[in-house]
Amino acid sequence: MKIVKTKLDLRRTIEGLLANDKKLKTALIPTMGALHNGHLSLVETAKKNADIIIASIFVNPTQFGKNEDFKEYPKQEKNDCKLLEESGVDIVYIPDVEEIYPEGFSTNITIARNTDILCGRYRKGHFDGVTTIVAKLLNQCQPDIAIFGKKDYQQLIIIKQLVADFDMNVEIIGSPIIREDSGLAMSSRNEYLSKNERDNIAPELYKTLQAMKENFNNGTSNVCDLTEWAKEHLIKSGFDKVQYIEIYDAVTLKKVSSNGSNFIRIFTAAYIGNTRLIDNILI
Ligand code: AMP
Repeated sequence: MKIVKTKLDLRRTIEGLLANDKKLKTALIPTMGALHNGHLSLVETAKKNADIIIASIFVNPTQFGKNEDFKEYPKQEKNDCKLLEESGVDIVYIPDVEEIYPEGFSTNITIARNTDILCGRYRKGHFDGVTTIVAKLLNQCQPDIAIFGKKDYQQLIIIKQLVADFDMNVEIIGSPIIREDSGLAMSSRNEYLSKNERDNIAPELYKTLQAMKENFNNGTSNVCDLTEWAKEHLIKSGFDKVQYIEIYDAVTLKKVSSNGSNFIRIFTAAYIGNTRLIDNILI
């Protein structure tokens, strides 16, 4: 596995691997590091769909808000590289901030659709940061496919919009959410939790989504009552704040008020202390 730090080195290395067979397919997996099995499952999805696998590790400053955890975000580069090598990644791209945002950098991509709901409503500018960095990584890498986790489902939908709007020649593939045995969606931010929070409180997020799903499928028509119940239940279970728990059409991200639609997802973001956890489930 080759570790590269510059976009020039990245292109040279990819072109070197493609030199003998231009038909080989390349896949990009963008990450912010502190890797867990959720990230590694994206590598497995990539291997099923491409021949040359590239992972990037970059904690993108522009997608963090002023009071968010950019400075604390866990960094485990050495271990990440070991995990990526073991899982069969060919190239890891670990650029510095200056490589991505050199002096004079002055572009910001704002997507108008679906960025002011759910996480976008509470994390102003977050998706601008995400779409700008993803556009840059896609341009630098020029992969045939790029893999994103459904854990960040809204992000996946917005990236698909980016690629469609900018006529980017890349296929975006969504990969399933990987969970701990407790049901808690794997996340680098789970490391902020104490053992008790991680084992006993955080898993309630997914359990609550499952209970809502069951109720919904049993014909509950009052979405408002259901979400109010879920919020109260999470607070009783030890969560400190429920930012949102909302039900949307999984394709259009239009809000759903009754169980008539075909593909519906419930989305939630909730805090334990300062740790913000997100999750979603297909109904
Ligand atoms: P991050 O490092 O948090 O930016 O995540 C990098 C990629 O991994 C994103 O596409 C995430 O959606 C995906 N990812 C993170 N956690 C999981 C998980 N538990 N299951 C599936 N994909 C995940």
